[in-house]
Amino acid sequence: MKKHNFSAGPCILPPSVLQQASQALLNFDDLNLSLIEISHRSKNFVAVMDEAQNLAKELLNIPAGYSVLFLQGGASLQFVMAPFNLMKQEGGKAAYLNTGTWSTKAIKEAKRLGEVVEVASSKDRNFSYIPKGYSIPSDADFFHYTSNNTIFGTSVKATPQTNTLLVCDMSSDIFSREINVADFDLIYAGAQKNMGPAGATMVIVKDEILGKSGRDIPAYLDYQIHIDKDSMFNTPPVFSVYVSMLTLRWLKEKGGVAAIAKENEAKADLLYQEIDRNPLFEGTAAVEDRSFMNACFLPKEGANTDLFDEMWKAAGINGLNGHRSVGGYRASMYNALPIESVQVLVDVMQEFEERS
Ligand SMILES: *Cc1c(COP(=O)(O)O)cnc(C)c1O
Repeated sequence: MKKHNFSAGPCILPPSVLQQASQALLNFDDLNLSLIEISHRSKNFVAVMDEAQNLAKELLNIPAGYSVLFLQGGASLQFVMAPFNLMKQEGGKAAYLNTGTWSTKAIKEAKRLGEVVEVASSKDRNFSYIPKGYSIPSDADFFHYTSNNTIFGTSVKATPQTNTLLVCDMSSDIFSREINVADFDLIYAGAQKNMGPAGATMVIVKDEILGKSGRDIPAYLDYQIHIDKDSMFNTPPVFSVYVSMLTLRWLKEKGGVAAIAKENEAKADLLYQEIDRNPLFEGTAAVEDRSFMNACFLPKEGANTDLFDEMWKAAGINGLNGHRSVGGYRASMYNALPIESVQVLVDVMQEFEERS
């Protein structure tokens, strides 16, 4: 039987998607060729890229004036690309909210290109909360934040208000909840958390913000070049784009983002209720900032973690170990994780309490 997969990333994908992807690896579109051995410029693959972009536009209600790209290099390359395209060559300045490991890395890259103002940081309490009430300098070229902190299990619930350009790393919560794309100027997300296999990064960019940095941008780092070439400037990650497209089709069939958001909320409620009820565990994130995607929790002092580890493994659960910077446990509940898997985890936590 398939495991209950709580892995933080790469992570669970819908079984029907894995089935179709396996088939396409052997024989794609009845071509008697594999998906990964045909030209990315063949009409069959161009149709995949078009459908992936169109599904993203439809599922997120992306308004006119935005482009959707599928690039390589992960979110980590976006840490560089975003400031390269948006931070002015002369007197460039960007504002960042520091809410964890990924924000910290994004800040480090931006600092290579100009002045970075860290408007607030939650490092003082190991990134267990989202800072609020900070102010964003109005002369910054853009403001950047991470909407969901995969490692620390926090998320930014309200879209920040700013008169600067707004840039967001949505790697671990894109397509998990409704967003108003018009509030943003640039959104990026590595595929491997909620969309597909590692290898593709989705970028949603407002066309009119480009071409104003005054920088000589290396070709691969230039969003405009990728827009002009329709994500085919160089060979795209064909397998990752294909599987992402299948996952977006699956999401559409399930009723889209609004429907999955309800399920995600129900899954998170179920688990957090147990974390709060069970005397052997405690959640690490501030309650109002808790992520619906990644729930982090610690065993209370004296809890027999060897027994708990044995029990969840025996129940067919995978990927529950916390990240080393938090410790304890982290349950990642991405779109494809069924609520039944969360119930299995809750049952194990209750049985653990009884046996302790
Ligand atoms: C995983 C993750 C990243 C890093 O993504 P890569 O694709 O490995 O570069 C960045 N930001 C967030 C929020 C993540 O969850």
